[in-house]
Amino acid sequence: MAEVLVYVDHVDGAVRKPTLELLTLARRIGEPVAVALGPGAGNTAAALAEHGAVKVLTHDAAEYADYLVVPKVDALQAAYEAVSPAAVLVPSSAEGKEIAARLAVRIGSGIITDAVDLEAGDEGPVATQSAFAASFTTKSRVSKGTPVITVKPNSAAVEAAPAAGAVEALTVSFSEKATGTKVTARTPREATGRPELTEAAIVVSGGRGVNGAENFSVIENLADSLGAAVGASRAAVDAGWYPHSNQVGQTGKSVSPQLYIASGISGAIQHRAGMQTSKTIVAINKDAEAPIFDLVDYGVIGDLLEVVPQLTDEIKTR
Ligand code: FAD
Repeated sequence: MAEVLVYVDHVDGAVRKPTLELLTLARRIGEPVAVALGPGAGNTAAALAEHGAVKVLTHDAAEYADYLVVPKVDALQAAYEAVSPAAVLVPSSAEGKEIAARLAVRIGSGIITDAVDLEAGDEGPVATQSAFAASFTTKSRVSKGTPVITVKPNSAAVEAAPAAGAVEALTVSFSEKATGTKVTARTPREATGRPELTEAAIVVSGGRGVNGAENFSVIENLADSLGAAVGASRAAVDAGWYPHSNQVGQTGKSVSPQLYIASGISGAIQHRAGMQTSKTIVAINKDAEAPIFDLVDYGVIGDLLEVVPQLTDEIKTR
């Protein structure tokens, strides 16, 4: 069976959920071979094997932490040359997309970004994408070289599928460009205790209808009652009510949670572009004609400052 390279996103050996989702998709098209780099890479093996990795290629070096993505691209290329895989899968984070794009250029392949599903096809893996601000769903395959595909978080279920997960050290020689851009400082984000927006199973977002930074606590309380991440429309971000790091949409983040709750958001096409692939969409809006109601599974017509606290109280009693 063909091997499929899976780039591992981990923090000090703790494998992040999008990588486990990639393993589910990789198993549809071949045998997953994981590539884990940087501090704690060796500690990823148990989790990766538990979810179907037949092999885990690891390499740790200071370059992965001290420089931007080029050392990681060098390592993924080394793994590609060692394995000759049928496809390379990378999580669709900002860094993942840069790594994937650089690798595709180096190996002369086509790339598909932000896939939301993946299946085996007669002429190679077929990826599903949401296109033109989610107006269309497309199915694409790479017609030149080994497909390099980035996959959005929450695109597949995490499935246990125990496999060998044999750990092998990857041999990497860094290119001249690897040390071209040094990381001089890292500023950790303020801890909120909430899940990462792009990976959260539930996202509660607020828009201009929230009507002030002080009212965002209403959105946060609902999010906390559900263990959700908080999102915001651009109007709310531009007004200074919530940070840009939480913006959902064309010029913000793209999310695909199980449940997306839009409160006081009209549903402009640029906002839809970032959330329309959510599995279930709920909107709370006082205007029954708001375009957001065209795409919802459930809608509440009402003042969010009344509806959202009631919803939060109800959830807390369950
Ligand atoms: P509005 O469109 O003003 O809607 C507010 C809604 O709240 C209305 O429907 C209103 O009925 C409702 N409301 C008001 N008060 C209440 C209340 N008390 N209770 C319940 N409902 C209430 N937008 C994004 O979100 N993300 C992007 O990434 C993004 N990128 C963009 C990129 C470009 C190039 C451009 C041109 C625009 C972009 N926009 C983006 C902006 C986008 O076009 C909209 O302007 C924006 O999404 C509107 O935000 P909103 O829905 O919060 O505000």
